[in-house]
Amino acid sequence: MLFRRRKDVATRPWRLSAKLLIASSVVTVIGFTAICAIVMLDMRHGEEKLAQQTLENLASSIDSDISRNVELYDLSLRAVASNMLLPEINNVKPEIRHLILFDRAASAKHFGAIQVFDPRGNLTIDASSLDPAPDNRADEEFFQIHRDQPDTGLFISRPMLHRGAYSIVLSRRITGDDGRFLGIAVGSIRFSYFHDLVGRLNLGPDDIITVLRRDGTVIMRTPFDLDVIGKNLGHLPGVIRVLSEPSGSYSGPGAFDGVPRLFIWRDGTRPLVVVVGKPWRDILSLWRTEATRIGAVMIALISFVLGVTLFLGREIGRRAQAEDKLEELATTDALTGLKNRRKFDTEIDAEWRRATRQKMPLALLMIDADHFKSYNDTYGHQAGDQVLVGIAICISDSVKRAGDCAARYGGEEFAVLLPTCSATDAMRVAENIRHKVRQWSDGPAITTVSIGIASVTPVAGMDWPALVEAADKALYAAKESGRNQCVVASLPKLSLVA
Ligand code: GH3
Ligand code: MG
Ligand code: MG
Repeated sequence: MLFRRRKDVATRPWRLSAKLLIASSVVTVIGFTAICAIVMLDMRHGEEKLAQQTLENLASSIDSDISRNVELYDLSLRAVASNMLLPEINNVKPEIRHLILFDRAASAKHFGAIQVFDPRGNLTIDASSLDPAPDNRADEEFFQIHRDQPDTGLFISRPMLHRGAYSIVLSRRITGDDGRFLGIAVGSIRFSYFHDLVGRLNLGPDDIITVLRRDGTVIMRTPFDLDVIGKNLGHLPGVIRVLSEPSGSYSGPGAFDGVPRLFIWRDGTRPLVVVVGKPWRDILSLWRTEATRIGAVMIALISFVLGVTLFLGREIGRRAQAEDKLEELATTDALTGLKNRRKFDTEIDAEWRRATRQKMPLALLMIDADHFKSYNDTYGHQAGDQVLVGIAICISDSVKRAGDCAARYGGEEFAVLLPTCSATDAMRVAENIRHKVRQWSDGPAITTVSIGIASVTPVAGMDWPALVEAADKALYAAKESGRNQCVVASLPKLSLVA
């Protein structure tokens, strides 16, 4: 293999351009992706806000409807409880008593008739009948609460079968002027009220409306599920928040189906709290579709940009390689693989300037094959060519430092540039080359080379042709002295370093 030294060409501007192209594409892609991500996150935020507003409005309207009806009914119960204290109430005829105790409000569509129970739990008065069937409710929670806890106020029972219909029972204590327990006034709101209320709403299939009592008991739930009604959820983190904050929102799994939802509640200070929930997948479904579409377009665009970038980068790389190759061809001697004369002239010029700048010596070897004409004449031009190749290999093998430059100067003449080399060092290299050539040429005819050596530390005002001339002269002296030898130039005006 011929020794070929290549200048480092990786620092060419177009090499940088390929990297720059890839870097700018990557930055552009990252930039676009970031902008896209921000826009999509904004859209998502917008969808969340919209869902929150919608759920807040829904929770508010359901809550105000329920609260208004409970208050209305409670007013009737309060009226009954206070009118029961009238001393004349037991002396008037039942019809008149009914008129005094019960107003029309409590007879609305979904309200059960108000009843009055005495301190032992016996039914005494029933708004729906002048002669009610005997009934005792002393065992009921709503009776015992009022009997045992005078400050209960309005008590809303757990959902229960009451007078043949699923209802919640609302009750108030009848307390005598002396604080004595005189019984309770009881009414009920049937589930049909809630069904009617939510039936008017346009809900999604997985939307949830839950009406909670303040202890966390489920009073009503849409979708309706008897197994869930009456359950106490007061231990769930979401419900704990609902019952502790007047209004707010909570994101978490549904208590019964585990579906992640956004839950909203408003005015949670009332006896019944309305919580509405919507699945996140429904809230974000539109956004998901849009995000998927934009994401797909972005991925396609990014793939396209990266693909084109890689393609262009590769093309630029190929072109760079081709240009390297061309430059190498333009600066290499075709026969020997060494640098050609043109390249040598450029190199010696550059090294001369550097040596001048750095005040370092620059050495030059001029190498010439001895009696080459007669070799050609004897063995032919092609054999002569092979000898030239052999000499080039010997030179390359002896010149290995990074800045050194071995070139074919012309014909059977070679030049070796040795930066920072004194004449002594250059002499060592020259002798090495001379020995290598001598050893190598063990063919039919022995080939030798003569070498002229010059080394100088250039100063301003000096030119490199002087160095070439000095080395040439030394070469001539070597020829004169019998060939196959190295001679160092001795030109005082070049201030030779030896
Ligand atoms: P000296 O020892 O004084 O250098 O004698 P020489 O014969 O080598 O010198 P001269 O200058 O008289 O002859 C050089 C010869 O080199 C002439 C030419 O035939 C031969 N030559 C030059 N270039 C090439 C080449 O590329 N290939 C071959 N085979 N021979 C070449
Ligand atoms: Mg010659
Ligand atoms: Mg010669």
